[in-house]
Amino acid sequence: MNVTRQLGSLSTLQAAKRVGCRLLLLSLLLMLMAACGSEAATTAAGEAVPVVEGIGVGATPEQADPGAAEVLPALEPVTLAEGEKLRVVATTSLVADVARRVGGDAIELTTLMPLGVDPHSYAPTPEDLRLLNDAHLILINGLGLEEALMPVLTDLDTPVPVVSVNAGLAPLTYGEGTEAETVVSEEAADEQNHLVDPHTWLSVNNVLIWIDNVAGSLAMLDTLNVDSYFSNASAYHDELAALDAELRGQIDTLPQERRKLVTDHREFSYFAQDYGFEIVGAVIPASSTMTSPSAQELAALQKLIQAEGVSAIFVGENVNTSVVDQLANDLRLKVVKLYTSSLSDADGPAPDYPTLMRYDVNAIVTALAE
Ligand SMILES: [Zn+2]
Repeated sequence: MNVTRQLGSLSTLQAAKRVGCRLLLLSLLLMLMAACGSEAATTAAGEAVPVVEGIGVGATPEQADPGAAEVLPALEPVTLAEGEKLRVVATTSLVADVARRVGGDAIELTTLMPLGVDPHSYAPTPEDLRLLNDAHLILINGLGLEEALMPVLTDLDTPVPVVSVNAGLAPLTYGEGTEAETVVSEEAADEQNHLVDPHTWLSVNNVLIWIDNVAGSLAMLDTLNVDSYFSNASAYHDELAALDAELRGQIDTLPQERRKLVTDHREFSYFAQDYGFEIVGAVIPASSTMTSPSAQELAALQKLIQAEGVSAIFVGENVNTSVVDQLANDLRLKVVKLYTSSLSDADGPAPDYPTLMRYDVNAIVTALAE
């Protein structure tokens, strides 16, 4: 076992322990709520963790993006009629997949965005508005991912709690950690809006936090099914911890000097940091697809790709690739499709989150090993 592998295993273990503690804390909080009534629980919650309300429940403008919330908001239990299930709307197919695993049969789950759409640019339909207003809980990625949807989520007719599955996660910002060299000047980086990378799920350890946040939210709203939510969460936790170890094992077969990523837009910060890759650059030098590169930025990237000896560009299935194709053609690079922001349909290669991660890691390792 080499040093990278040991370090990798260690960080997985530490993350699993940390998340395990979070689950325990949430269970204790819920037990307190059941034992003492909601007033005492609020006090307990206030003492244990500072409570930040989600949007739609008296939020201030500074909290307009619940993805920026440091902790999960406290949610009031809802009263369900006999046979009525908790209605949960999840924005992306990835958020919905975790909600499905944790909520199981106890919730009525709807995914807002169709498979294969770009979550940055998706705008809601009139039917979506009805679903959102009728929900007991709206689960979002947050951190600015759902750019086109946010104005609607902050202005619903009914006060539905909106919770980011990333609550409590420290987001990575543009240029942090794994950059070989930034493609744009610092001034240009300051000017652009998409500084936080919202694509947290591309590191499995982050999805362990999603599981906690989903279980905690469901349990606070639907107190009759607390045991089911936490036992589902715990089982999925174990499955993903094993998945993380499996992926690290596969990545270890790739020599360190080959672990260089060029992508369509900036979405691999967490993946690169947690799995030991270097980000050479992105065709769109932003954490969003809703902008395009300048001629200078493309020229700078072209130089970097040649200097670093990169042979492949990785592109999300749901991303428009005309600029990527042009660059790949000019530099004779392989274009490798990945499932980055949406699951595939049930018959496709990425029908659920663990399969998506296996597919992507296998495609990355295979392409870079050649
Ligand atoms: Zn993206």
